[in-house]
Amino acid sequence: VWANCLRVIRSSIGEQSFRTWFEPIVPVALHDNVLVIQVPSQFFYEWLEEHYVEELKRGIYQELGPEGRLEYSIVVDQGNSQNKPRTVNIPTARKMAAPSAASTPAASLAAGALTASARNVAAAAAAPVAPAQLRNPFEASKVIDRNYLQSQLNNSYSFENYIEGDCNRLARSAGLAVANKPGTTSFNPLMIYGGVGLGKTHLVQAIGNHIKASNTDKFVLYVSAEKFTNQFIESLRANAVQDFANFYLLVDILILDDVQFLSGKDKTQEMFFHIFNHLHQAGKQIVMTSDRPPRDLVGLEDRLLSRFKWGLTADLQSPDFETRMAIIQNKMQQDGIDIPPQVVEYLAYSVDTNVRELEGVLISLIAQSSLNRREIDLEMAKQALRHIIEDVEAEVNLDFIQKTVAEFFSISVDLLKAKTRKKEVVTARQVAMYFAKEHTNHSLKSIGYHFGGRDHSTVIHSVQTVSDLIDSDKQFRSQVQELRKKFTK
Ligand code: ADP
Ligand code: MG
Repeated sequence: VWANCLRVIRSSIGEQSFRTWFEPIVPVALHDNVLVIQVPSQFFYEWLEEHYVEELKRGIYQELGPEGRLEYSIVVDQGNSQNKPRTVNIPTARKMAAPSAASTPAASLAAGALTASARNVAAAAAAPVAPAQLRNPFEASKVIDRNYLQSQLNNSYSFENYIEGDCNRLARSAGLAVANKPGTTSFNPLMIYGGVGLGKTHLVQAIGNHIKASNTDKFVLYVSAEKFTNQFIESLRANAVQDFANFYLLVDILILDDVQFLSGKDKTQEMFFHIFNHLHQAGKQIVMTSDRPPRDLVGLEDRLLSRFKWGLTADLQSPDFETRMAIIQNKMQQDGIDIPPQVVEYLAYSVDTNVRELEGVLISLIAQSSLNRREIDLEMAKQALRHIIEDVEAEVNLDFIQKTVAEFFSISVDLLKAKTRKKEVVTARQVAMYFAKEHTNHSLKSIGYHFGGRDHSTVIHSVQTVSDLIDSDKQFRSQVQELRKKFTK
């Protein structure tokens, strides 16, 4: 019976859709005109109901007549593919059919049989999904030969040129484990998080390249969350959401970079959630990065966040001195350039924010050296760094300090300069003077002048008071530290 149904269905939908959505279905039982089919996931069920209910009804009608009914048996998503599948039976949710369905002969199918669980499913499936089968902006999804699928990987990122250090040891070794056995370790999903320029993209690209090199049959896809979002929006616009989903369900290893970008984009998140579930259940590897730990990903749905906990979360820290040295040396070797050891040391010592910045300084040195036909030396390095440091200092002037401190204490800049002696204002004023002393070249007299014409002894007293408070008051100390970050980059 199912084979005949399939024949009916096949004649009315595309080859790719048929393969994706109907080949994985297993017919499991037929009794009293009820055909039970097993589908691999909840998402699968929702998708069928959303998009292929008409085709299914037509097939069932032809085979079993108006009394025919269809039930789904879903391999329940346990969050662990090793678990033995449990199945539930859900009658087809008639509600899912297009309005015209009521007048078709097959409408009697499952009429009125909307159970509570099916209703929940129906509600959940009321995704942002438009009727499909229109134009397709995703050429790749029509390509059945998987060799034509593009991974979007940059092969200059590898494990070989990813320097290991304390800052990245866990993330790197988890990445290597995943790269060697995608989808089969417990690191699924693997979530790498860390600040800007610390090597997230490099690491996940290295994972992708490694997998691709040893598993040519696997479709590895790297995509930034931003691109994913734009593609999805485009597919909505073009009425081709189904093609979008079809394409992503072909992926064997999905690498989604900068997942924080999905914050607040509910519909895109929902689509990603479905794709995630589907791939995860099928034992496909998922790798993600984020610029902050999952608990700080505001604007991401809880159900999505909870998925991230299924696997492993590993962070990247700022590299320590030795790692920075090694990164510079590695870069030099790669680019075939020579920099005296004391310059390497000077750079590694001075640029401690992130790897991207370190590379930036290196590149500008190389450029200068070739432009001026001069070997890179310490003097040149100092010159290059002075440029960067001045950039920071130029921003941190008195106005900036006053504005930042006032904002931090939720008062106005005018109040900072006013005569008032209210305690909160006095504290804010003293802190602002303290930072003015620390971060500008203004004399005590000049600082006093800019804070409502106070004299230099007031400034001395303020700086002293703040120093004392930093020593004695833990909460105050952390406030000052928080503020200092804004002045030191
Ligand atoms: P993120 O994605 O975290 O912002 P990237 O992966 O783009 O950072 O890294 C920034 C630059 O630093 C890249 O050129 C990358 O190759 C380099 N980089 C980062 N970490 C390392 C490392 N451990 N070893 C070598 N290069 C690194
Ligand atoms: Mg990145």
